[in-house]
Amino acid sequence: MSSTTVQRYDAIIIGAGVTGLYQLYRLRELGLSVRVIEAAGGVGGTWFWNRYPGCRFDSESESYAYSFSKELLQEWNWTEHYSPQPETLRYLNHVADKFDLRKDIQFNTRVRAANFDATANCWEVEAESGERARARYLITALGPLSAPMMPKIPGMETFRGTAFHTFNWPADPKGWGGADVGVKGKRVGIIGTGATGVQVIQEVAKTAGSLTVFQRRPNWCTPLGNGPISAEEQAKIKASYPEIFAKCKTSFASMVHDADPRSALEVSAEEREALFEKLYPGPGFSLWLGAFGDILTNQKANDLISDFVARKIRQRVKDPKIAEKLIPKDHGFGTRRVPLETNYYEVYNQPNVTLVDIKETPIERITPNGVKTSDQEYELDILIYATGFDAVTGAITRIDITGEGGLKLKDKWANGPRSYLGLQSAGFPNLFTLVGPQGNSALCNVPRCAELNVEWVTDFIRHMRDNQQTCAQPSKAAEDAWVDQVAEVADATLLAKTDSWYTGSNVPGKKRTFLIWAGGNPAYREILADVAAKGYAGFELR
Ligand code: NAP
Repeated sequence: MSSTTVQRYDAIIIGAGVTGLYQLYRLRELGLSVRVIEAAGGVGGTWFWNRYPGCRFDSESESYAYSFSKELLQEWNWTEHYSPQPETLRYLNHVADKFDLRKDIQFNTRVRAANFDATANCWEVEAESGERARARYLITALGPLSAPMMPKIPGMETFRGTAFHTFNWPADPKGWGGADVGVKGKRVGIIGTGATGVQVIQEVAKTAGSLTVFQRRPNWCTPLGNGPISAEEQAKIKASYPEIFAKCKTSFASMVHDADPRSALEVSAEEREALFEKLYPGPGFSLWLGAFGDILTNQKANDLISDFVARKIRQRVKDPKIAEKLIPKDHGFGTRRVPLETNYYEVYNQPNVTLVDIKETPIERITPNGVKTSDQEYELDILIYATGFDAVTGAITRIDITGEGGLKLKDKWANGPRSYLGLQSAGFPNLFTLVGPQGNSALCNVPRCAELNVEWVTDFIRHMRDNQQTCAQPSKAAEDAWVDQVAEVADATLLAKTDSWYTGSNVPGKKRTFLIWAGGNPAYREILADVAAKGYAGFELR
C-alpha cells in the first residue's frame, strides 16, 4: 500500500493469522495478485497477540495443523499434546517461511476503512496511515476473537502499577512468547475467569507473592490432560494424519471428539456416571464433546452432567464456601465455552490465592494502588484484564466498511449480523468474511473450519473467473433464509439461552443474538457443498 499511488491487486486479505495465511496461499496458487494487510508486526493472528503465561491450545496439537501440505505435516514436530503459544507462533512463522508468504504481506498496517466503488466494481481499502489499495475481492480473515474488550471501571487510568489486557501481554523480545513482566513475588490481580483467565490464573499462581482473582461469574472447567508427545506418539501421529483429518470432518466441532449418540436419560445412573468419570480427566474436550448427545439440548440431561462436574469441583476445592463460589449457578455445563485447566481448582487451596466474588462485593473503582470493591481495597503491583472480546463481529465492524449505495456494514448489523452462509452480506459485493458471523467460526477447531471456508471461497472465485463473472453477492431472500436458519438451529440448543460471547451478551449495548452457526460442521460442510453444486445457489452473479 502507498499513500501517494493507489496499489491495485486482485484480492486484499485483512489478517495474517491461521486463516489469512492459508487464503493467501490458495489465491496465489489460483494466479491472483494478493496483498495481505496485517496490523501486527508478524504473522500468527491470535497466537501473535495472546502471549500471556499459560496460553495454549485446547485442541489436540495434531488436529490444529494445516492439512494441505503432507511435507509440512511430516516435518513439523509438535512437542506437547496441547501446544503452548510460543510453539504455535513458531509453527505459523515456519509456514510463512516455507511457502514464502511474507513477500505478499504488509505488516504494521491497520485497516481503517473499506469502500465499495460500484463503478469500478472494486474495493478501496484505507489504512490508518492513510495508505490506500484497491482490489476486486476483499476478504476478511480477522478471527472470531481479536477485538479485545477492556471493562469500563472508574479510575482505570489512575492505577500506578502495571496493567494490561491478556491480548496485549508484552512480547518477549528474544522469543516467541510473552515477556517476563515480573510476576514473581508480586501482588497480582486478575479480572475475568473465562478460558483465558483460567489459563493465566493457574500459571501466575505458581510464582506470584499474592494473587487476587476478581470473579464475576464462574465457568465450568474440566481437566486438559496435557503432556509431552513421546517419540513413539510422534511417529503414530505422523502416520495417522489422514485418519485424524477424516475424523475431524465428520465430528460436530471438527475435533477428534465425538458425542455418544445415546441420551443421558436413557442409560442407567451407573452407566452414566461411568462415562462421565472416564471422560472427565480429558484429554481436551472429552467431556464437553464426548458425553451424551443431548447434554446441550435437553435441560434434564444437562442437569445431570452439571451435577457431576459440581461434585468434582467440591472434591477438589478444600474450602466448601470457595467451592460453591466456583460452581456456576446461572448456566449449565457446556452452555458456555468450557475452559480447560491443569490444577485450576487446586489453585484456590493455595495460601497466596484469594477469590473475590464481585457479584457479592462489586468493584467500585480502580485506585492508584489497586482495586477497590464495596468491601475493601486490594493493593496490587500488576493488574491483568482477562475480560474477553467483542467476539465474532467486533473485529469486522470496527473497520468502517461501506458497501453499495453508502450502506455501512455496522449499521446493517446493528441488530445482529446478517449474512448468507456466514460468508457474504447482501449489499457488500465481493466481500468475503472468512470464519465470520453466522459461519462455523467458533464452535469449531479453527484451522479445520478455516480450511473449509478458504477452499470454498477459492473455488467460488475460480468459478466466477471461469464463467467471466466479476461480481457476487447473496440475494436478500437467501440471506434472510440463512439468518432464520442460524437462529432456529441455535434456539434448539441450551447455548442460545445462556449469556456468553456466543450471544454477544458479554458486550454492553451489543444486540443479543446467537452469532455462530450451531448446527455442527458436517452439516455446514454439506450446505456449502450443496450451494456450490447448484451453481452457487442464492448468490447473484454477474
Ligand atoms: P470470556 O470467556 O468472555 O471471559 C471474560 C471474563 O471476563 C468473564 O469471566 C467475564 O465475566 C469477565 N468480565 C468481562 N467484563 C468484566 C467486567 N466489566 N467486570 C468484571 N469481569 C468482567 O473471554 P476469554 O476468557 O478471553 O475467552 C474468550 C474465548 O477465547 C474463549 O471462550 C475461547 O473460545 C477462546 N480462548 C481459547 C483458548 C484456547 O483455545 N486455548 C484459550 C483462551 C481463550 P462474566 O462471565 O460474568 O461475563
